Amino acid sequence: MAELPEPLERLVARLLRLPGIGRRGAQRIAFHLAGAPADDVRALAAAIAALPETISPCTACGNIAGAELCPVCADPRRDRSVICVVELAENLAAIERTAAYRGLYHVLGGAISPLRGVGPDDLTVDALLARLATGEVREVILATNPTVEGEATAHYLARLILPSGVRVTRPATGLPVGGELDFIDQATLARALEGRRGFDD
Ligand SMILES: [Zn+2]
Repeated sequence: MAELPEPLERLVARLLRLPGIGRRGAQRIAFHLAGAPADDVRALAAAIAALPETISPCTACGNIAGAELCPVCADPRRDRSVICVVELAENLAAIERTAAYRGLYHVLGGAISPLRGVGPDDLTVDALLARLATGEVREVILATNPTVEGEATAHYLARLILPSGVRVTRPATGLPVGGELDFIDQATLARALEGRRGFDD
């Protein structure tokens, strides 16, 4: 295989660190950018370079935000009596794309995983319990990923939350086993949320 010119190879190496991008995709992007108008390339680079200074976690839910509150928490039309708990901000984005959910979210920052050394203290569990303590929330939907770790995390949270009297639900079954929320199509995800049931049912 012919080697790429050094500037392209450097870009490909960076792109390969991104999720979902393999060598072929990385090369495709690199060649596309090499042939794109200089202004477009600079605008892309500027948008990326601005992220560390302009993006921070939403102080309420942990979603990615460009201000103190993310667009969901800042929206007065959202139903503040329901919180949908997800592992990562990208899971939240997947649910938002379905447009089937009008409540708030809570981003855990991952799932409990003894194998990877991730315990409850490494996640935003305390912040979630603090939000529930205000008494405004009537239902918590545990929409962690349908993986072994996601299920274990949901059970852990259900045990913590149920004694408080807040209704705890989980999306209906029908999610692919071992699948991750991001890869489930929107209609399936919307149906799973609408058909959610009580964790203790
Ligand atoms: Zn938020």
